[in-house]
Amino acid sequence: MDFLRLSDVDVRGKRVFIRADLNIPQDDQGRITDDTRIRASVPAIRDALTRGAAVMVTSHLGRPVEGKLTDADTLEPIAVRLGELMGREVRLIRDWVNGGVWHSSLTAGDLVLLENCRVNPGEKEDSIALAQQMAHLCDVYCNDAFGTVHRPEATTHAMALYAPVACAGPLLAGELEALEKALDHPKRPLVAIVAGAKVSTKLTILRTLAAKVDALIVGGGIANTFILATGGSIGKSLAEPDLVGEARAILEAFSGKIPLPVDAVCAKRFAANAAPSIKEIDAVADDDLILDIGPKTVSMLLPLIAGAGTILWNGPVGVFEFDAFASGTRALAEAIAASPAFSIAGGGDTLAAIAKFSVTDRIGYISTGGGAFLGFLEGKRLPAVEVLEERGREARERARQ
Ligand code: ADP
Ligand code: MG
Repeated sequence: MDFLRLSDVDVRGKRVFIRADLNIPQDDQGRITDDTRIRASVPAIRDALTRGAAVMVTSHLGRPVEGKLTDADTLEPIAVRLGELMGREVRLIRDWVNGGVWHSSLTAGDLVLLENCRVNPGEKEDSIALAQQMAHLCDVYCNDAFGTVHRPEATTHAMALYAPVACAGPLLAGELEALEKALDHPKRPLVAIVAGAKVSTKLTILRTLAAKVDALIVGGGIANTFILATGGSIGKSLAEPDLVGEARAILEAFSGKIPLPVDAVCAKRFAANAAPSIKEIDAVADDDLILDIGPKTVSMLLPLIAGAGTILWNGPVGVFEFDAFASGTRALAEAIAASPAFSIAGGGDTLAAIAKFSVTDRIGYISTGGGAFLGFLEGKRLPAVEVLEERGREARERARQ
């Protein structure tokens, strides 16, 4: 990776602008329900501060309307939580794009949070004018927001073109390194598990992924769509019938690598207290819902996981939130934890499952970026990373001359 890292940059006396990903989930009252992303952003902030920088941090939160800051969009709760984590007050600045009093009084050791950057007109369109204004605020631009690297926006992309120095923060660099290790030079066999509910977004990555992996384990709505594609019956289960053609094409090209479920845990209703019944796939009835992979399927998959060199995991293989339909996901999670393979997991619900089954500490790397993680697996361009690499090569070239 050709980009500069924050740790390569001398930040003493400099104004450092960090684009973090503080887009945390909140309840109806705006209370933070999971602060993982805030905690993950602390190392970059702390590093710049201890090395004598003045630090500005911003992030998007939710999907605000540009030009309008509503109560739902404010980073206020994040300023409070970040303050607790840092052990100091974190001032929140509104209308910050043009600088002003708050900016001219910034000195080394200061830490401010800049309001939701997605409220600024031009942010989503990757506006050059907006990026240039923001770039004037800093000496060093640091992108530490892995979760948004697949989206070219003013704070994730264009700003990196205009800031005097542009670098990657430790969280972003760490995520990219772990993903490269898993995908570009994996220890073989490379086994991917792709499951969950977002069938249409995930099916499109499977073709790219299937070509790279040695085995592809499917579950959830993805597996159901594959079963449909082979002419099997899935009753009323979650699937994407429109993508059966695509699923069939993938199976034709890679069927040897994709072991389909042979049995399932079914129910007549989608509910925590629905009665579970284990069925062979060809016994699934028209009014059944497949809610988990069955025990025979689990036994068939466990040796693949135990023998893997590298494991990529996105998506629970069943409705793990309901205890009666959690066994498949639990068994795979425990097998991944016990496997000597380097494992990497990503996706909001996948992380919830990992936490529920208490295997967090035994997963090699946990990726915080949902869409960006899938984008990387698919081999998509990541514009926010490309621009940092260009700037990094430029900086090295200049240093050589
Ligand atoms: P992630 O957030 O990890 O990317 P998804 O959002 O795609 O994963 O899917 C997670 C959801 O998929 C979970 O809430 C789980 O209950 C659901 N799910 C898994 N298997 C099934 C199934 N067979 N039928 C319906 N929902 C399922
Ligand atoms: Mg999800």
